[in-house]
Parts: sequence; structure tokens; C-alpha cells
Amino acid sequence: MSKIKVGIVGYGTIGKRVADAVKLQKDMELVGITGHSYSFRMEVANMEGIKIFAIDGGKDFKDNGINIVGNVGDLMKAVDIVVDCTPKKIGRENKEKYYIPNKVKAIFQGGEKADVGECSFVAQCNYKEALNKDYVRVVSCNTTGLSRTLHALDKKFGIVDVTATMIRRGADPGDIRHGPINSIVPVLELPSHHGPDVKTVLKDMEIFTTAISVPTTLMHLHTLTCEMKKEVKVEDVVKLLNDTTRIRIVRNAEKVRSTAEIMELARDLGGKRGDMHDICIWEEAIGTHGKKLFYMQAIHQESDVVPENIDCIRAMMGFKDAEKSIKMTNESFED
Ligand code: NAD
Repeated sequence: MSKIKVGIVGYGTIGKRVADAVKLQKDMELVGITGHSYSFRMEVANMEGIKIFAIDGGKDFKDNGINIVGNVGDLMKAVDIVVDCTPKKIGRENKEKYYIPNKVKAIFQGGEKADVGECSFVAQCNYKEALNKDYVRVVSCNTTGLSRTLHALDKKFGIVDVTATMIRRGADPGDIRHGPINSIVPVLELPSHHGPDVKTVLKDMEIFTTAISVPTTLMHLHTLTCEMKKEVKVEDVVKLLNDTTRIRIVRNAEKVRSTAEIMELARDLGGKRGDMHDICIWEEAIGTHGKKLFYMQAIHQESDVVPENIDCIRAMMGFKDAEKSIKMTNESFED
């Protein structure tokens, strides 16, 4: 069977991780990545033997000893599908500029508005919706986290409605431009965009979200209150979440009390860059009050969408078995 030929446009926080994940898949080949200008990221990609296709000429690369194999047009000709990991709004521009004219399938990220794709995607929720599609959006890190856990709870117990607050990291660890660095900033928009975004994946979910930004770089933290159709037992919720893929129960009993300790655990587990693809839920923070279910979850914003992009590639290329794709992707990170 020939491998799926994948190109990455935009090699930043998400793009470099998706590129590495593509390299791990037995059924995919990383054709190359795009680069604007010389940087340490490009130096590392070059050291790893990743082919670089220049967006703006390439003199800067050549001056710094980086071999450029072609331009973005050449990349389009060589791939079956592109994963666009550029900053928000650029993906939509690239769709018009490169993907439609070259008849190349493309995946967009959560920074783009939902209508950039024919559907939004979270593998364990709606894999089949993306089958054979040309343009699909993998939703944001927060929406991925909300969708994974709410989908499992709704399927098993039934949810009437949800209110949730996203406590968002101010910036990614390598980002020196964003903040806050000494403030708690409420998002003055109700609902925050996360609730409506969840509904692009879980169409019947009644959900209202609020958000605040805080001075941390490690993870986002969500607090959720779900009005359930009937009373649920905490131990049944724990069992369900433990049995659900890409969700991990963490415990104060194991001294995992904070996002810092989750990321330390991820580093100890030894995945590349110390990433944590799973949505982490504290066992001791799951509680009930009548039909209300409360829980708190932490999201590693830099990496939870990475396995989603891999499954999305398979779905768009016509691989029908969602469970098998998820298993293949999960196992690739364990090798
Ligand atoms: P980033 O800024 O780290 O990386 C973007 C990359 O795209 C950079 O390498 C930049 O040089 C390149 N780029 C910029 N303009 C380009 C263009 N016109 N053509 C080709 N490449 C271009 O961004 P990121 O954090 O990786 O975010 C990418 C997307 O993923 C966004 O939609 C974002 O909302 C989404 N996302 C980000 C996170 C996160 O926490 N960082 C989480 C989930 C989803």
C-alpha cells in the first residue's frame, strides 16, 4: 500500500509536532515543511533531514547553509494532503492561494473560523464526518479537551447542559510576545467562543462557556458543571473516563496536584518534548450534587491536537475505521 504523502505548511508550535507525528506513522510519509526565514527551528528540521520548501525565495536559508529543495508550489505538487499550521487567518488565505488551485486536500487548525472546512474534527467524537473530505478544521486545544470528555459523559449518562470556565495559559512556553505576566484577565465576551465551537463537533450539546487568562505557560485548566439527565456516581464517572481514549485520570494521591506536576509527569513519561496528548482530569476534583456533575481538567495546549491531526489525515484520505486509526496513532507515540 502506498503511503499518504503529507506536507506541513507553518512549522511552529503545532506544525513541528504534527511533522514529527507524521514521521512516526507507518502509513504516512512526511514530504516536507515550509519555511519563511532561517531560524533555530529550521536548523533543527534540517539536522533531522526534513525537506524544507521556501515560502519567500530562500536566500536567507542558503546564506545560513540550509538546503532548500523547492518552493511551496513544488510542495503542493508532491503531496496528497497538507496540514496547515499557520497562525489564525493565514490558513484561509493559503486555502485560496495554494490548496484550491493545486487541488490539494488541507487540514486547518483551531485558529481558523469553522467555515474554512467542510466540518470540524475531534477523532473520538466525529471521525466519520471527515471521511474523504477535502477541507477539515481540527478544533482548538480547548475545544478538543471539552469535546473529548463531554462526548464520553454524554454518550454514557446523558447531559442536559454544561457551564464551563476556561482558565487559559497566557502564552506558550517559547512565546515572548503574549501575556499577561502579572494579571488575571477576564475574557469580556459571553459566552466565550469555546461553547459555540464545541457545538461544531457535538452539535446537540447545550453548553455555555466563560474564559479568563492567567500568567502561566504550561497548560489550560477547565472547570465544568454538567447537569446530567440522572444522578451519577463518582466511581462510575472515574471508570468511564479511565476507559476512554486520550483522557487520563490523575490523582492528588500520587502528588499530581497541579498543571506543573502534570507536565513533570509528562516529561518523566519520556514523550518527545515532554508532551501530554491526553486530557488530564483530577480524580479528587470529580464530584456530584444532585444531578450536577463537577470536574476539572487540564489541557496541554501545545500537543493535545497533534494526534487529532493524524487521525484527520486518515479520515480525509478515506481510511474508514475510526477506532483503528486512533489505536494506530496512539501506539505510534508509544514506540
Ligand atoms: P506559531 O506561531 O507557533 O507557528 C506558526 C508558523 O507558521 C510559524 O512557523 C510561522 O513562521 C509560520 N507562518 C506564518 N505565516 C505563514 C504563511 N503565510 N505561510 C506559511 N507559514 C507561515 O503558531 P501555532 O501556535 O503553532 O498555531 C498554529 C495554529 O494552531 C493556529 O491556528 C492556532 O490557533 C492553532 N493552535 C495553537 C495552539 C497553541 O497552543 N499554540 C493549540 C491548538 C491550536
